[in-house]
Amino acid sequence: MNYKQRLLKDRDALQELISIAKESNSAVELDQSKVGRLSRMDSLQKQAMSQEVDRRRHMELARIIAALRRIEQDEFGYCITCGEEIEGERLKLNPSLPQCSKCAKG
Ligand SMILES: [Zn+2]
Repeated sequence: MNYKQRLLKDRDALQELISIAKESNSAVELDQSKVGRLSRMDSLQKQAMSQEVDRRRHMELARIIAALRRIEQDEFGYCITCGEEIEGERLKLNPSLPQCSKCAKG
C-alpha cells in the first residue's frame, strides 16, 4: 500500500470514528436525562474526555488532509519547515507527519 492509499484509508477510518462518536454522544445524553444515575460531575468528566478525543481526531484528520494535498501538489515527503526530505522510516510510521525529525523536535 502506498502513502496515498494509507492516508485515504486513515482518513476514512477517522471520519467514521468521528461520526460514530457523534451519534453515541447524543445517545448518552438521552440516557442520562432518562435514568439520571450518573452524577453531574461524572457526566461532565465523560463529556470533557470525549471532547478531547474528538478534538485529537479532528487534528489528525486535518493533518491527513494536508498530507493528501501535498501529494497532489508533489510536495509530499518534504519537511514543511526546512524543505529537506522527511526520513522514510518516519513516513512509514505515519505518512501524515509534515516535518522531518529534526524540525519536529525543535
Ligand atoms: Zn525539517
